[in-house]
Amino acid sequence: MRNVVIIGSGCAGLTAAIYAARANLNPLVVRGHEAGGQLTLTTLVENYPGFPKGVQGPELIELMQKQAQEFGAEFLEGDVTRVDLSKRPFTVEMGKETLQTQALIVATGASAMLLGLESERQLLGHGVSTCATCDGYFYRGKDVVVVGGGDTAAEDALFLTRYAKQVNVVHRRDELRASKIMQKRMLDNKVIDMVWNTVVTEVLDPGKGEVTGVRLKNVETGEESVKETDGLFIAIGHSPNTELFKGQLEMNDVGYLVTHDGSRTNVPGVFAAGDCRDHVYRQAVTAAGTGCMAAIDAERFLAENSHAK
Ligand code: NAP
Repeated sequence: MRNVVIIGSGCAGLTAAIYAARANLNPLVVRGHEAGGQLTLTTLVENYPGFPKGVQGPELIELMQKQAQEFGAEFLEGDVTRVDLSKRPFTVEMGKETLQTQALIVATGASAMLLGLESERQLLGHGVSTCATCDGYFYRGKDVVVVGGGDTAAEDALFLTRYAKQVNVVHRRDELRASKIMQKRMLDNKVIDMVWNTVVTEVLDPGKGEVTGVRLKNVETGEESVKETDGLFIAIGHSPNTELFKGQLEMNDVGYLVTHDGSRTNVPGVFAAGDCRDHVYRQAVTAAGTGCMAAIDAERFLAENSHAK
């Protein structure tokens, strides 16, 4: 029987672990298949307070985990397969292993969305990427395509101009969703070419095991074409990792967990932190902030319900 189980080991989960451990709650953190979260997929983080010269995302996560361990947080590797939040103690299943906990902090984050094409799935990691900062380096002097019209697409396209000789941004409309400043930077950049009103319908060529091009379709005219390219970066947003909680925790129409009074969910004793509950700010520092809130809320809940051991 645990006092607190934290599902997720990104910035939110680890901050919750630091606070819960310092409150002597001996938290258990479950590290899933995307352990460390989105910060492990980035390079230099320049806006996390306290690091005037920036800090590498993976290093920041490693430091947070060490800090949590320093105060007694425990870590368990593996994916949670089912939860039962209908009664306390809550049940958290990881395959055949079952955990029981008096309080639960959900910090499962969000993952990059994909277009949903079979060829895209086959070439993921072989020329199809969801992380320009991780993979941009491999495209020195090459030609790449970025899909999307939001800030992520603009940021990725601009980042890729450091390496690629040509960056083509394919967007399904003729208007960008990105902030005005990012739009201007992208549209002013001579290395970036915009392909408007267009969607990617197939990634070529799974048979060769690498990206050689993309099949495009103009949604206005219906015209199809093939654009030769060396890499495809998908930058169409993120979706929250909350499938596990469907039917048990209240969520909005796109799956973000709904919280009230800080980090409380609709189930007393279950708290949510980080990107699984935040589609607006999505920053490392806000994830850390809500992780802290969840741990404090859990501590108070346990004290009030006198179940803390
Ligand atoms: P977003 O703002 O939701 O934009 C997603 C883009 O992808 C949209 O242009 C959308 O097209 C397109 N899209 C979605 N599904 C698609 C599909 N199936 N096929 C083709 N295109 C598709 O997501 P985001 O760019 O990841 O940004 C999310 C949030 O983080 C925003 O609030 C953003 O401001 C913030 N952010 C900020 C920064 C920064 O300030 N530097 C950097 C990154 C993210 P439509 O426009 O037609 O819907």
